[in-house]
Amino acid sequence: MSSQKRLKKIGLFGGTFDPVHFGHLRMAEECRAKLELDEIWFIPAYRPPHKDWTPSPFEKRCQWLKQVLGDTPGCRILDIEKERDEKSYTYHTLLELHKREPGCEFYFLTGADSLEKLHTWYRWEDILDLCYFVSTSRPGYTGELPEQLRIESEKRKYGIICLPIDALDISSTGVREQVALCKDVKHLIPAEIIDEVNSSMEVKVEGYKAILKKRLSVKRYTHSVGVANTAAKLAGMFNGDIERAYLAGLLHDYAREVPNAELLELTMAHNLSSDAVDLLQPSLLHGPVGAWMLKEHGIMDDEAILDAIRWHTTGHPDMNQLAKIVYIADYIEPNRDFPGVELLRQLTYRDLDLGVVAGIEHTLSFLIQKDGYIHPLSIATRNRLLEERRDKNRN
Ligand code: ATP
Ligand code: MG
Repeated sequence: MSSQKRLKKIGLFGGTFDPVHFGHLRMAEECRAKLELDEIWFIPAYRPPHKDWTPSPFEKRCQWLKQVLGDTPGCRILDIEKERDEKSYTYHTLLELHKREPGCEFYFLTGADSLEKLHTWYRWEDILDLCYFVSTSRPGYTGELPEQLRIESEKRKYGIICLPIDALDISSTGVREQVALCKDVKHLIPAEIIDEVNSSMEVKVEGYKAILKKRLSVKRYTHSVGVANTAAKLAGMFNGDIERAYLAGLLHDYAREVPNAELLELTMAHNLSSDAVDLLQPSLLHGPVGAWMLKEHGIMDDEAILDAIRWHTTGHPDMNQLAKIVYIADYIEPNRDFPGVELLRQLTYRDLDLGVVAGIEHTLSFLIQKDGYIHPLSIATRNRLLEERRDKNRN
């Protein structure tokens, strides 16, 4: 009989888990059965190096995992990546685990999307000397092992295992989108976390961003995030509602890339405007149509946010502070670089109304120069703001 103790087979399941979903759980269960793992350790990433979005706070993501896994035997949640307070590289995590748990053999569990990106991971070749890199099937990905990876895998102590599983077509991005659309997510995530995920503003905001990424060019998406940040900053400066300003800024161009024919069609069908200038210049309709669509698609029903979106291009004499903020944030967000923008920024920071009037006047002179039609709402807005200023000065 051998005196050598059998190494414990540990599945390491790294991920952002924002939030954890049934696809993760199915994958873990299949790996445990097929690879005969003794335990699975979930390792939420503290600062995921490959994400181009802002995940929910680490503590929240861990809490959701705890609520879902409870005391499931053989499951642990490790917050090892938090201890390093830096970008969470799997290579470092594996080194640390080898140091702490010498009696274990590690299987790093991933979906096939990770295999496609493995060659970009920090010291990916060395990772294959520290664990089996398990790539399970995932809907939408071929799961094929690229030649470069196969060759490297054969040279390494453990290497890559491609493991076919009966995977579910669920992603955290998809969950976040459904939350933003106020749709039911009970078929996607466990009941224990539904209420919290549904009411998480971080999840919702990232859901909005995922939806916008599909509707807008990269440039316009970047502009939208710029407007959101600028609107939030202005709301902070002028004692406004920061969250609503951020959301209105983020969503203001929801319909900006809808074709003119569709803008006109929706405007007629739902009576969204009767102004002659809108019909001559249908792109002006992206505000009113965007507001209508956001409500219709179940994304937004906050009327103040919808008004701000509706009026963000033409202005409106009844604009409240939120609408003014979105109007001018659209003009001065950091990606804008027309001559005079810095002056407009400084003016706005001093006095929101002065900024809005200057923004409108900038539009008017631009339109006059290029023989463009002027929207009557822009003139009415300027007149109203001048009137209000005169009244204020008189008192
Ligand atoms: P996001 O959409 O935010 O990227 P995600 O659903 O991909 O989220 P992650 O936390 O990024 O979840 O994934 C952690 C790991 O789990 C990754 O290796 C990923 O490939 C794998 N994984 C996620 N969902 C599935 C699934 N439905 N089937 C198989 N593997 C999955
Ligand atoms: Mg992912």
